[in-house]
Amino acid sequence: MRAALVDSQGRIIGRGAIDTLPESGIDNARMRLARLLESARATAPDGAEVVGVGVSTAGPIRPATGTYNHPPNLTGWHGKTMKPSLAESLGIPVWIGHDATLAALAETRFGDHIGAENLIYVTISTGVGGGIIANGEMVTGATGGAGEVGHITVRPGAYSCNVGCDGCFEGNASGPAIARAARDRFQNDGPLAVLAGGDPMNITSQMVFDAADEGDTVAQEVVDITIENIGIGLGGLMNTFDPEALVIGGGVVQGLQRHWERLNASVVEHALPRYENGVPLTATRLGDDVSLLGAAQLAFREARKL
Ligand SMILES: [Zn+2]
Repeated sequence: MRAALVDSQGRIIGRGAIDTLPESGIDNARMRLARLLESARATAPDGAEVVGVGVSTAGPIRPATGTYNHPPNLTGWHGKTMKPSLAESLGIPVWIGHDATLAALAETRFGDHIGAENLIYVTISTGVGGGIIANGEMVTGATGGAGEVGHITVRPGAYSCNVGCDGCFEGNASGPAIARAARDRFQNDGPLAVLAGGDPMNITSQMVFDAADEGDTVAQEVVDITIENIGIGLGGLMNTFDPEALVIGGGVVQGLQRHWERLNASVVEHALPRYENGVPLTATRLGDDVSLLGAAQLAFREARKL
């Protein structure tokens, strides 16, 4: 868990971090988070008003109450929320949002797309997730589960994700998916074999991109398929939401940026003809702070409504 005091211009003033320890339970995490937030608040300049707390979390959560709804990585937190007790211990309002949705919100306030009313943020990392801003509002869905773009089918009959859906975006374009596709095609010679020290189990998505740069044909094939899979996924999102900005972030983006023209062309190819002159694809420049800034913007935005 990371906490920061953020001003209305997106400047991070004080920050700190502690381990989440989800297995110790939500109450334990909430008490430690409250202390972390108090120390961030203590860095506020004299006279500054702290309007509230925004919390960005892995979901799914019900946004109004912050209640977790079967979160896959927070075992035992289902049906629970830290919102009321956190607000009580800190004495200021608390708002909670889904991390990828808040990353999208951060882009519309502190990123390269200030004021965008329609923006999609897709994180391509250990998994594939997404956040959607449509007509200026965060799209949360009926149960807080909206934005799970990682489970759009992009390649039926290919790989499944951990959830088990066949041929989904996450199963065929996340970092582990790229590594797995290369492992399954492994050959004992060439740059990829050298980078992996001869053991296919060592392959990472970073190695696949690096080996492709060095002319490794297996790695190049995996990069080609990955670019097409991402183009199918993002092209479908263009058609569905017609965003002003389509922003990608996450660990895999570093490798993808070396193939930016082809990635753009792949999204155009899989989008409707109305986008034949280009799609508004960019890579985030907010880095690791994108979720902190999104959480801050959630608090600024909601505090204005009070
Ligand atoms: Zn899936």
